[in-house]
Amino acid sequence: MTGAQVRADDRAHVFHSWSAQGLINPLPVERAEGSYFWDYEGRRYLDFSSQLVNINIGHQHPRMIEAIQEQAARLCTIQPAFANDKRGEAARMIAEVAPDNLNKVFFTNGGAEANENAIRLARLHTGRHKVLSTYRSYHGSTATAITATGDPRRWPNEPVAIGVVHFWGPYPYRSPFYSETLEQETQRALQHLRDTVVFEGPATIAAILLETVVGTNGILVPPPGYLAGVRAICDEFGIVFIADEVMAGFGRCGEWFAIDRWGVAPDLITFAKGVNSGYLPLGGVVISDEIAETFRERPFPGGLTYSGHPLACASAVASMQIFKEEGIIEHARALGDDVIGPGLAALMERHPSVGEVRGLGVFWAIELVTHREKRTPLVPFNAAGAAAGPMNEVAAACKEQGLWPFTHFNRIHVVPPCTATADEVREGLSILDRALTVADRFY
Ligand code: PLP
Repeated sequence: MTGAQVRADDRAHVFHSWSAQGLINPLPVERAEGSYFWDYEGRRYLDFSSQLVNINIGHQHPRMIEAIQEQAARLCTIQPAFANDKRGEAARMIAEVAPDNLNKVFFTNGGAEANENAIRLARLHTGRHKVLSTYRSYHGSTATAITATGDPRRWPNEPVAIGVVHFWGPYPYRSPFYSETLEQETQRALQHLRDTVVFEGPATIAAILLETVVGTNGILVPPPGYLAGVRAICDEFGIVFIADEVMAGFGRCGEWFAIDRWGVAPDLITFAKGVNSGYLPLGGVVISDEIAETFRERPFPGGLTYSGHPLACASAVASMQIFKEEGIIEHARALGDDVIGPGLAALMERHPSVGEVRGLGVFWAIELVTHREKRTPLVPFNAAGAAAGPMNEVAAACKEQGLWPFTHFNRIHVVPPCTATADEVREGLSILDRALTVADRFY
């Protein structure tokens, strides 16, 4: 097939996510390897997006392909009511790297279904109905997950589910609490959350759901003490703490689970993406012993035909083995500390349009501004979404030079695979350096 044929079928018959169908022109991709993918004209792109921040292990890892092929040759599918070796092994391996009291896994096909089911677990466990989630968040696009989502992707979907209340999480660069220090931000954000709980009625609140490190809404790293404070509020009022690690988990933050950085144990962790780098659709919820106990005698009233799909689970087992044997978690942490962090800080020194650099591991963002002191975003935060106006020009400048960036509102997220080499990351940063001169023109 040629690129033109791929494009023709796509334009005629594929209905795309999040897009006005007539206004898009998707790039036909022919193949991929490691940190790169190629279009049908043979143009190579360095994948600084890890697709949708999920190819943590890089494209086409040979051991992943081998594991999927082996499993396919033996048993492609068996429904969830049976026991299956790869399903059990994947669940055990996930439980082994999760905080101590989280020992059971409910498998889904992706992140939205994971959040959907985590909320269901919390509601059934507590007998309460409300869920608190942050404004600056994305939790997926099924009914309850998109309602829990705080960003503009929720607006055109409303009204959807009931019982979700939004609150503000910490964001030191644009503090909703007018804080001047990280300590103030932590303290005020926790006071705001506690007030929200008290005024919503603690006896009505099943769960507080938050992204451990906020992903598409800006790589917002929680300030010291915040997550421990959320844990304390949940304990005080008998609320389930759900950590959404769909994007932040499995190496992205240089840890198995991002929350390990802060030594806090939530009651439920939702995961997807990095668990098997999206080689096959897989997500799930890691469940605490206490919540699992609720369902010892009483049935859990939910399920999915493909829950714990053997092919997907075989790929998760292979992925976690590769992570361990190739030291990918440590590599991701070192990339952040030694290459991406310092590299982006240097870009900030050279480019006035870079207002802030933040992140950890291979999970970083730069905010582009037209005025540093006023922190005026290069493009406004609005429902038009991902890459409006000048951001399109910056993204185009990256693509022309063979770098595939992840842009959202006024930000460029620097999220290469966890397996990217230091040289590949440096190559990407030097392309970004040239592309940022486009942003500087608007300053
Ligand atoms: N939660 C977070 C934090 C995400 O970033 C995403 C997707 O980007 C989701 C949930 C939804 O996952 P999925 O697209 O697999 O349903």
